[in-house]
Amino acid sequence: MKILKFGGSSVANHERISNVANIIQSYVKAGEKVAVAVSALGGATDLLIRMGKTAAGGDSSYKLSQEAFSTRHREVVNQLIDYDKHPAILNEIVEGQIELSNLLQGVYLTRELTARTLDYILSFGERSSAFILAQVLKQIGTEASYIDARKVIKTNDSYGRAKVFKEETYANIQKMWKEATGVPIVTGFLASSPQGFPTTLGRGGSDYTASILGAALEAEEIIIYTDVNGVLTADPRKVKKAFPVSTMTYAEAMEMSHFGARVIYPPTIVPALEKNIPIRIKNSFEPEAEGT
Ligand code: ASP
Repeated sequence: MKILKFGGSSVANHERISNVANIIQSYVKAGEKVAVAVSALGGATDLLIRMGKTAAGGDSSYKLSQEAFSTRHREVVNQLIDYDKHPAILNEIVEGQIELSNLLQGVYLTRELTARTLDYILSFGERSSAFILAQVLKQIGTEASYIDARKVIKTNDSYGRAKVFKEETYANIQKMWKEATGVPIVTGFLASSPQGFPTTLGRGGSDYTASILGAALEAEEIIIYTDVNGVLTADPRKVKKAFPVSTMTYAEAMEMSHFGARVIYPPTIVPALEKNIPIRIKNSFEPEAEGT
């Protein structure tokens, strides 16, 4: 089995979400077993952070950003889901938005944004994107289940960059994999604390989610879909002739990430390394390219 991970830029709008659904479907049609981790729609996490901070600053304009967040998700549903299924799906989305709105109202009234509350606010990004992607897959005829990672990935309460409890998490993932119908579409980045509050795995943490899923399920490969053709020899904005490297060691990938190349979120390497699972970086806009 393989793990596929799609980052925010790969799911930034309805066309891209539809492209991602087609990529997932092509694996299923080729007889592959896959589980998917997905990020929030591109920019959604930044917007959620801004909303929280604006509300905590006593500025009611957070409501405008929240409206923009809601509209964006509703529009994606309107574009991608058949009209007769709209009410049920929009209902779920609206319920989430009411919860988010209550939470932000609390922050606004108390002028207080704790790390715990911020993680709760951030959870709405991946909860929305994964839910929508699962519905889009079902619509195009590929069975899929929306999986809220808060139910499976367990961490300590270091909100903002929580530490994963490996054994419990791996056991939960194995159970989830056995029980899920169709392709599990898992919220990247999210987990939950022993008290049951949402936690997050650090910015860029959806890569890490993919690696945790891969290690728990002993995947043959973890494929991280991004918006470039793999790990390039240089920053393509500065060096025109930059080209993708075909392979590199885990140590090299780790070193590059630490020196600022946005290859992969560094903690991602560890679960894959422990189980000796290759990580492939591919381009969701050019899925035929080999990647790194
Ligand atoms: N959405 C989260 C972030 O922007 C996690 C991720 O995309 O990997 O950091």
